[in-house]
Amino acid sequence: MKVVFGFGMGVDSAAILVEWLDNPDSRTFDLKDLIVVIAQTGDEWLETGWLIEMFIFPLLRAHGIRTIQVARASNSQRDGIVILDDTTQPTTCYIQGAYRLSDENFEVATVPQTGGIRKCSLKAKGWSLDTLIADITGGEPFVHVIGFEVNELGRMMRDMPLGLPGRIPAYPLTGWGWDRDFCEQLLWKKFQVKWIKSACVQCPYALASTAGLARTLPRYVASPYEAFKPLTMEYLSVAANPRQGLIGGRQLYDALLDVEGGPELLAEFQEHLNCMPWAIYDVRRAFRAKADDMMKPANAARSMTRIATGDRADIVGLLDYMANHHLPPGARYEIGRHQRVWLHERNIYYPCPEQAFVTGPALAIDKTNKTFAEAWEEALKGPSQLSFV
Ligand code: SF4
Repeated sequence: MKVVFGFGMGVDSAAILVEWLDNPDSRTFDLKDLIVVIAQTGDEWLETGWLIEMFIFPLLRAHGIRTIQVARASNSQRDGIVILDDTTQPTTCYIQGAYRLSDENFEVATVPQTGGIRKCSLKAKGWSLDTLIADITGGEPFVHVIGFEVNELGRMMRDMPLGLPGRIPAYPLTGWGWDRDFCEQLLWKKFQVKWIKSACVQCPYALASTAGLARTLPRYVASPYEAFKPLTMEYLSVAANPRQGLIGGRQLYDALLDVEGGPELLAEFQEHLNCMPWAIYDVRRAFRAKADDMMKPANAARSMTRIATGDRADIVGLLDYMANHHLPPGARYEIGRHQRVWLHERNIYYPCPEQAFVTGPALAIDKTNKTFAEAWEEALKGPSQLSFV
């Protein structure tokens, strides 16, 4: 029976591979049945790619283990997956992926969301892996190995009933009683290297705790090239919606202001923004009212379209000109880290409209929700209009 190992490239799964290869008694299968599968989101830290190429791929090559790297082809499942590599002699870790999670975030001017299920992970990793595994197992029963450590029994229990028909889940670390510290020590003893947590550079979960911030902010300072991606993503997302931010609604930008080297990084980031093409976007949101409470919003439909493009100075200058010469009555010009002309602002009653001309990097595509036109009509008729004029 095939044994498919979902190799997440982090501490836990690296420790499993090392143990299996160094200590054959730790496994009950022949290595010729093992297939290592890696889902690439396209946004991993460079250091992770380096660790894999330097320490893990040589082991896989030495044992001739089939290793497949996979990514999404586009933001539509209809386009399927891209096999980045399928070999028993892996050398390159394709962390650049194909269609990246960040491509999707930039296109719709948002950041990955925390809370509830990790939609980004399900889309960029879970779905790609399930599609690949269905292909390589051809519907036959297979053992699916996951690297949950001993303190992740809750995740393990939730994972057990999931997945493809014929899937037999296996969790070696929980069976061995290994936690993350133990895995880290094993990798340290084996390679004399501190294995970093595998994650996308823009991962909000990596910033969700004090320990996560202490770990991640210095990495941004040390690697401006990698920091520019989450900072640009957040900048565009906040331009379109001031309530966004990578740290649970708080901005990474603000957190970096307070760490050593952060202000210098942010000065470089501003230079980076200066070199990008910019746009003025017309961002409109139509908020519906909650069924039983007109003071609470239900979901919103959004429309975001570019109305001008150019370099940053031209675009900011153009919005400034519009604000100073053509500001409609009741509109408000906001100047600061972001420039916005507010035409409709959210009020305390719903349904209500929100509309602003905003400036930001020209990375978002024109996108209007299917239900927007109808919701916008309703929002314009909503009670908030009474207090707007
Ligand atoms: S690492 Fe973070 S951002 Fe990337 S897919 Fe996983 S949860 Fe989403």
